[in-house]
Amino acid sequence: MSVSKIQKDFPILKTLVHGRPLIYLDSAATSQKPRCVLDAMDEYYTTMNANIHRGVHALSEQATARYEDVRQQAAQFFGVFDAHEIVFTKSTTEGINIIARGWGDEHIGPDDDIVVSSLEHHANLVPWQELAKRKKAHLKVIPLAFDYQLDYDAFLSLLNPRTKLVCITALSNVTGTPPQLDKYITAAHAQGARVLIDAAQGAAHMPFSIRKLDCDFFVCSSHKMYGPTGVGILYGKRELLQACAPLIYGGDMVTTVDQYSAQYREIPWRFEGGTPNIAGVIGFGAALSYLAALGMDTVYQHSQELLSYAHEVFGAFSNLTLLSPMHHPAIALLSFVVSGIHPHDIASIFDSEGVAIRSGFHCAEPLHAQLGLEASARMSFGVYTAKEDIDKAEQALKKALKIFK
Ligand code: PMP
Repeated sequence: MSVSKIQKDFPILKTLVHGRPLIYLDSAATSQKPRCVLDAMDEYYTTMNANIHRGVHALSEQATARYEDVRQQAAQFFGVFDAHEIVFTKSTTEGINIIARGWGDEHIGPDDDIVVSSLEHHANLVPWQELAKRKKAHLKVIPLAFDYQLDYDAFLSLLNPRTKLVCITALSNVTGTPPQLDKYITAAHAQGARVLIDAAQGAAHMPFSIRKLDCDFFVCSSHKMYGPTGVGILYGKRELLQACAPLIYGGDMVTTVDQYSAQYREIPWRFEGGTPNIAGVIGFGAALSYLAALGMDTVYQHSQELLSYAHEVFGAFSNLTLLSPMHHPAIALLSFVVSGIHPHDIASIFDSEGVAIRSGFHCAEPLHAQLGLEASARMSFGVYTAKEDIDKAEQALKKALKIFK
């Protein structure tokens, strides 16, 4: 993969920050966008802007076709046979909330168990806390084991016939741990539980075949995959989506309406009430084409190589703790704490060098609490990240250590 060639596709990387070239190491928060994504959205607005699914005029038909083509494309990208199982949402968070409300409210009852993992982002935790409260169900948490791994044996001991749903990340946004999903899915299914995969981070770095994985629900966000903000994907098995109530009611999700009741459209459109983010979906299509052209196996390898290089460089500092698996697979990002320096100070000093990183608890407060931390600093990588960017981060770290000596 030629990173220098890829960098040319991302106009923002020419930006100067505090007079220095931007080194963007915050792709886990949101990725930058290649020119082809910006062009695809521009083309929609300049040549075919119209609402979809409504008009019989040429522009509306053209926009509808482009929007629906992206659904097919997403199905193909994620290894899904039936494109009707792909719902466009605004984000991973919205996708999870659709399932928590629409499916969870119907299928979870008092004393049922919902299992989440210790690695979850708030997006894949808070909706389940609320569902458990509404239904008087129990939320159970897979604990952490050695080396930032989930404790699989503890997971097995949590499972029982009352386990209705297991919600697990494909890639932790704090530790870069990719749990071995197939094991969790098989064990959950053996107990009759459904499984939701939060692929908000994973989808940008790993190849997925949802068909092979056989998960029941799968969610991700375009903006972490080089596409625009405001678009996400919710995959659900056909029969499960059919048994799921919509979250948003109104126009475009109905077939017939009388004064007091309405009939809803088939899946997936019944979940897409109102005017969707048409330009965003078209831009997301361009991002999927971009990733497909690079090849997700290559993207994965690049993520892995960057992380092992970052391990090497940052592991050499004795006053640094890396929140990252050392003896198991890990990709895409490196969180760390430096003794005696607050992560916000680290991030500010990095920023003064033009290096954008994230500090805080990265919407994973319970995970930080388990690690005995209030916050950490996080560098995260994208297809445009070069080893030289990690070298720049190392220089910024040296500066921070000097200032706080
Ligand atoms: N899950 C994980 C693992 C994430 O990293 C994020 C975003 N940081 C989300 C869920 C939520 O994604 P979004 O904000 O796009 O809804």
